[in-house]
Amino acid sequence: MKRALFEDLHEDFRASFRTFLEREVLGDEGRYGQWEREGIVPREVFTAAGRGGFLGMAVPESHGGAGADDFRLNLVIGEECQRAGVGSFSLGITLHNDICLPYFLTYCDEAQQARWLSGLASGELFTALAMTEPGIGSDLAAMSTTARRDGDHYVVNGSKTFITNGINADLVILAVKTGVGGHQERHRGISLMIVERGMEGFEHGRNLEKVGQHAQDTAELSFTDVHVPVENLLGEEGRGFLYLVSNLPQERLSIAASAISAAEAAIGWTLEYVLERKAFGQSIGSFQNTRFTLAELHGEVQIARTFVDRCAVALNEDELTPEEAATAKWWCTDLQGRVMDRCLQLFGGYGYMVEYPIARAFTDARVTRIYGGANEIMKEIVGRSLGL
Ligand SMILES: Cc1cc2nc3c(=O)[nH]c(=O)nc-3n(C[C@H](O)[C@H](O)[C@H](O)COP(=O)(O)OP(=O)(O)OC[C@H]3O[C@@H](n4cnc5c(N)ncnc54)[C@H](O)[C@@H]3O)c2cc1C
Repeated sequence: MKRALFEDLHEDFRASFRTFLEREVLGDEGRYGQWEREGIVPREVFTAAGRGGFLGMAVPESHGGAGADDFRLNLVIGEECQRAGVGSFSLGITLHNDICLPYFLTYCDEAQQARWLSGLASGELFTALAMTEPGIGSDLAAMSTTARRDGDHYVVNGSKTFITNGINADLVILAVKTGVGGHQERHRGISLMIVERGMEGFEHGRNLEKVGQHAQDTAELSFTDVHVPVENLLGEEGRGFLYLVSNLPQERLSIAASAISAAEAAIGWTLEYVLERKAFGQSIGSFQNTRFTLAELHGEVQIARTFVDRCAVALNEDELTPEEAATAKWWCTDLQGRVMDRCLQLFGGYGYMVEYPIARAFTDARVTRIYGGANEIMKEIVGRSLGL
């Protein structure tokens, strides 16, 4: 089905991002594969992305951005990464643009904007969002990292885990408890603040070894008596949970869109493969099972794509609801998992070899049902909105 989402400017942006990917990420010598083995993307890639105009597109021109607050540009980046067999979250750019940047754009005061926005657009400042702790993930309000006010500083203690861009990040949006509060008040005690690379007591810990998304640096972070100036508080003290909840729909839509792009790419690779590969004197693609499998997956992905495109329009119009974003997230990531599994099967043994993009896409896909809020939590959000 023809998509009505994009205009000429998005297609121009797509063409230049494709060139960036070919030149800076894929490269003749297979750079991305090397980063997967090393477990991290080199910093120069982010400054190259910044120079190309692929970071912080929504940052106002007065702060060095393009002033283009249009989520369709973010979608183009995700789609092109997945098409090239590069996980958009593995590269780190999608987390920076889609998930972290909105916090800076929405909650920074003028002085903070002047300090940080141009660096976010140029790639000199790279970001992470740290909510999850070793003891809590889904139940965010139960976090135990604390920030105690002491004059013109907060003193931060605690630890976070599974933090995407955790090694590369210069600025970490950190969720902390600034108030104690009883059970009823536990959401109100949360604040967000920016912790900067190099602050005394702030350690980027282990780069965690994962099942997939190998190029992504996913790390533990620890905070021991870190003195964070009050000027680094984002928005108002105690309103952090509200800020997180307000930004999560965009995060979840970004994950959903990435999932659908990954599924589309997998179907494309599988179609090529089944037409070439022969068994019993005929191409694998000529078996009815193959036709049915790919027809089903293609249909499901097209239907999901239509919903995600509609959600993107709603987000641009500031109308995307938490329930719609949660639906997109759980449905599309579940579908991504099914697509990867069934496509891999059609590759036979080659599908299990990491040199084949389908094998990497299969392992990369597993986490999308977990992060950004586990799919069970998404169904809780939707179920509650139905009055259950
Ligand atoms: C690769 C990777 C990258 C990540 N990046 C980030 C990041 O950048 N920043 C960040 O803050 N976090 C990040 N996370 C953390 C991620 O968001 C959490 O793992 C996720 O929210 C689930 O939390 P948990 O792991 O503590 O699981 P738990 O909360 O322990 O839940 C375990 C399972 O229990 C079930 N469950 C939990 N609660 C309920 C419920 N109410 N009803 C029904 N079932 C339930 C679900 O099946 C869930 O999957 C990342 C995780 C991974 C693996």
